[in-house]
Amino acid sequence: MLVAAGFKAFRAKQVFHWVQKKSARSFSEMHNLPAPLLKWLEENTTLGGIFEVLAVNESADGSYKFLFALEDGRKVESVLMPNPKRNYWTQCLSSQVGCAVDCKFCVTGMNGFFRHMTADEITDQVLFVRRYLHERRPDAHFRNLVFMGMGEPLLNTAAVIKTIQILVAHAGIDLSPRRITVSTSGIIPGMEQLADADLGVGLALSLNAVSQEERERIMPITKKYPLADLLELLKHRRFGKNKRVTFEYVMLTGENDSMDHARRLVSLVKGLSCKINLIPFNPHPDLPYGRPDRGHVERFAQVLLDAALTVSVRWSKALDVDGACGQLAGDHRQRMGARGVDTVSRSKDAAKVAFPADLDFFATVAAEDDEEE
Ligand code: SAH
Ligand code: SF4
Repeated sequence: MLVAAGFKAFRAKQVFHWVQKKSARSFSEMHNLPAPLLKWLEENTTLGGIFEVLAVNESADGSYKFLFALEDGRKVESVLMPNPKRNYWTQCLSSQVGCAVDCKFCVTGMNGFFRHMTADEITDQVLFVRRYLHERRPDAHFRNLVFMGMGEPLLNTAAVIKTIQILVAHAGIDLSPRRITVSTSGIIPGMEQLADADLGVGLALSLNAVSQEERERIMPITKKYPLADLLELLKHRRFGKNKRVTFEYVMLTGENDSMDHARRLVSLVKGLSCKINLIPFNPHPDLPYGRPDRGHVERFAQVLLDAALTVSVRWSKALDVDGACGQLAGDHRQRMGARGVDTVSRSKDAAKVAFPADLDFFATVAAEDDEEE
């Protein structure tokens, strides 16, 4: 665009550097650009993505939850969390407004699908949050990204791939692909596309069941993309370089959490280089499942450990003070302006719709294990 408008090509690199590396959120911050270029940028382009930051909540454990409004007023959430030693931070990203996959244990699924997020909207979650972190903690190491927020990333694969390409670009934030994980409910064409893109990012599959029939019951998408096909694909395709695939397994009382299920899980993943994240169900009043108690979860985990599998249990923080579903969406305590810089007023209507997705919880699920470091 800049070359076509008569500017030198290196100016484009400067703008990219300002937006990506230096986290500029307005053209006026780009002080080494000549006035005619700034004027042209102001008149012909917009810095798109997050339209307004509706709320930032800080939890006692040090994590931050962000509620963003997009340009059409739709809302998405993101969570930034420190690892236990606080030497690096992980951000959990949304990739769609809502989700169409309809998993029976998921609040986002229950609320339905609204639209895809664009690559600039997905990317801008990172740009905003990284700047937010560095303004408060200049030495903080912003390191890991997980696509485990609202939405099914592999039903919005082109935008997710483009986002990853931008975020790993050396001229920009330069994140390591090894520190990026895409979590999917098992969308085979999207998994193929992601593997073809050869980005070197990790894959997590929300397995959640040990047979076709049982998985269909809680994840109807399994009718379209059968369990056997998913496992077959994982045998033949590599995602991260030498990286094990992660299986997420949401434990639902009486549904998929018996010791027999644990043993069948062991046989199912046999031969696959993997690790298993057990996620005790995060309850919600409108969801018909129960959460197994700690002792039960530990016994289930032990069966997997005895089979020499790598296992970690992801206890949700949702039972803590402000972690309940949708509370963030309903509680706009702090208000910041557009793009977190200039205050822009919004119509009341656009801000009305709330999307309760329990991202605080998702981020817990997403935290990388320290053993991996
Ligand atoms: N759509 C993607 C990524 C977001 S969901 C996916 O499904 O993989 C992130 C993880 O949270 C998934 O593993 C999902 O199975 C799990 N999850 C969703 N709702 C949950 C709940 N109420 N309790 C426990 N885990 C849940
Ligand atoms: Fe969508 Fe993932 Fe929730 Fe399933 S678990 S409804 S794929 S967000």
